[in-house]
Amino acid sequence: MTARCDSTCDLACYDLAVAGSGFSGSLLAMIARRLGLSVVLIERGKHPRVVIGESSTPLTNLLLEELATRYDLPSVKPLAKWGSWQREHPEIACGLKRGFTFYHHDLARPVFDPSDRSRQLLVAASPHDEISDTHWYRADFDHFLVSEAQKLGADYLDETNLTGFSESGREVLLDGTRHGRGVSISAKFVVDASGPRGFLYRALGLYELELPGFPATQALYSHFEGVRGLQDLYPVPGGEPPYPVDAAAVHHVFDGGWIWVLRFNNGITSAGIAATDARAEKYRFTDGAEAWQRILRDIPLLESQFASARAVRPFARIPRIAFRSGQITGYRWALLPSAAGFVDPLLSTGFPLTLLGVSRLAQVFERDWDSPQFESSLVQYAAETEADLLATACLIAALYANMSNFPVFTSLSLLYFAAVSFSEAAHRLGKPQLASSFLLRDHPVFGPASLRIFERAIRRLTEQESGAISEEIVEAIEPFNIAGLGDAARRNWYPVDPDDLLKSASKLGATQDEVIALLQRCGFQLQ
Ligand SMILES: Cc1cc2nc3c(=O)[nH]c(=O)nc-3n(C[C@H](O)[C@H](O)[C@H](O)COP(=O)(O)OP(=O)(O)OC[C@H]3O[C@@H](n4cnc5c(N)ncnc54)[C@H](O)[C@@H]3O)c2cc1C
Repeated sequence: MTARCDSTCDLACYDLAVAGSGFSGSLLAMIARRLGLSVVLIERGKHPRVVIGESSTPLTNLLLEELATRYDLPSVKPLAKWGSWQREHPEIACGLKRGFTFYHHDLARPVFDPSDRSRQLLVAASPHDEISDTHWYRADFDHFLVSEAQKLGADYLDETNLTGFSESGREVLLDGTRHGRGVSISAKFVVDASGPRGFLYRALGLYELELPGFPATQALYSHFEGVRGLQDLYPVPGGEPPYPVDAAAVHHVFDGGWIWVLRFNNGITSAGIAATDARAEKYRFTDGAEAWQRILRDIPLLESQFASARAVRPFARIPRIAFRSGQITGYRWALLPSAAGFVDPLLSTGFPLTLLGVSRLAQVFERDWDSPQFESSLVQYAAETEADLLATACLIAALYANMSNFPVFTSLSLLYFAAVSFSEAAHRLGKPQLASSFLLRDHPVFGPASLRIFERAIRRLTEQESGAISEEIVEAIEPFNIAGLGDAARRNWYPVDPDDLLKSASKLGATQDEVIALLQRCGFQLQ
């Protein structure tokens, strides 16, 4: 019973209205169609359009694959891995992400020595390109998904400026304008996928809460052409890194901030800086392109990498990155995690949190639509969304506090890598109960242990405390460490080694045979 709505219509009634056609809004629209709901997807802009937020992770791709399988979305599934993406959708630009690369810079003595492993951290996410993660070129990626949502029968209204939300009997009424004319859409339920401080936040006059302990940060970024590869500029002496260093989310970390560099296969490189207010003011982010040049001058490695680069878009500035809505659900509405809050691009937590929210809401629709449990399930959804956001904020606040203390920064990152790699393996082994929450935050041992560490690490640490906290982290991750993390002999380079997982089978309550079957399913080439 898909009711249609065009720019002149009023009061067509849908089961579900989704505000915002980023990847999350379109995915949820597709899933809702698969569940038999009538759906309207409403977008303020027009595809293709460029948005930021581009780098995926193993957990992101696992969630994407799970959603595509569970809700029968065969066109989406290939996008969960580099190899299948290149074969099935070469027209959608993306980047190869074999891992997370971190370089530390002392801005007072900015000399980059590629042989100094104490100032770098390389964590591989895949053993070869075929099953690698990706950076999503969102203009193409989101455009594709919105077209797929339409193919599945979602009605799509672009260039629509939603302004009002009101309840009317058994429905809600959304009002706005499209091409200068009034639009009214009624739906039984509304999902807001329009990002931080988005549609419902403004229409309902929701309030903003702080993320406790998280510093005030800003961002400045653009897309570039002509960015050189680090591998050519700074060949790594003494051994092969676990993956080509540019085929990664490359992070340049320094006191008070960090820079990301993500390369796509269409000649575009995404780069930007996220930094505390103090650092942003020092560089005068408000100056846009000039501020970027000031930053490059402080980091010679980046200055040479960007020497011939040209920004292909005007610089964008986000004056306050972090956001937390005071309310996440209400009567007949819910915010997706990306509309409910955001911490920072560091460690690419935005996508997995958003996809977890899509997955949870989809299950609520599938299980409880039109049932008395619907309201209580929404309350549960809101609680999980908020708890994930707060756990992420604690981790990233601790990382910000230690951007000038790279050994502790590295150790804290290992907490993240241990939690997400354990979670991914548990899910892929069909044991999701071992890792039921993001960052294992509700695990009875790991959750409280990591929280205690984050709370201590937020304070400025002495050398002795730094050593102690790093040792404590190695102990805390041990029962979950399936990737050889923290092994001093690896000197901050962590390849994906199937032996690590095989040796850790018991941590996952699995047999060697189960792990071998998992590795084969995932495309590992075992000897
Ligand atoms: C600087 C920066 C870098 C980031 N990098 C990463 C990263 O590398 N990896 C990662 O995992 N996460 C990253 N994130 C987070 C990531 O951007 C989000 O998790 C992701 O974009 C959420 O996708 P979405 O589809 O929910 O929303 P969005 O991508 O925010 O899309 C929202 C859509 O809603 C539309 N819209 C907005 N307002 C309205 C309205 N009133 N009515 C109708 N439509 C509306 C917009 O036009 C847009 O199409 C980053 C975030 C920032 C700020």
